[in-house]
Amino acid sequence: MSRGITVRPALCIGCSTCVLTCSLHHTGEFNRQKAHIRIIIDEFNGYYQIGLISTCRDCGLCAASCPTGALSRQAETTAKGGEAAGGSRAL
Ligand code: SF4
Ligand code: SF4
Repeated sequence: MSRGITVRPALCIGCSTCVLTCSLHHTGEFNRQKAHIRIIIDEFNGYYQIGLISTCRDCGLCAASCPTGALSRQAETTAKGGEAAGGSRAL
């Protein structure tokens, strides 16, 4: 799991911009299966889970692309007095 990305699932809207950004940058393709991050959508329960997988390169591009702040670089969060890094959580 990435050590440098802070995850706030409550802010996630499920847009998958992070997934596609990761995939495009690291593989040259828009391919969810090749991204190092997963967004798990549970429409029945109404929440999203964010999972940074073990192959994550900690580059931070997913956080830079996230429009809601659900992902951010850990240094940014620390500067704001923020939250724990990594993991996933239901809303
Ligand atoms: S930090 Fe980089 S490698 Fe890891 S999930 Fe985000 S974009 Fe992909
Ligand atoms: S973490 Fe951000 S970019 Fe990724 S699906 Fe959620 S809102 Fe979209």
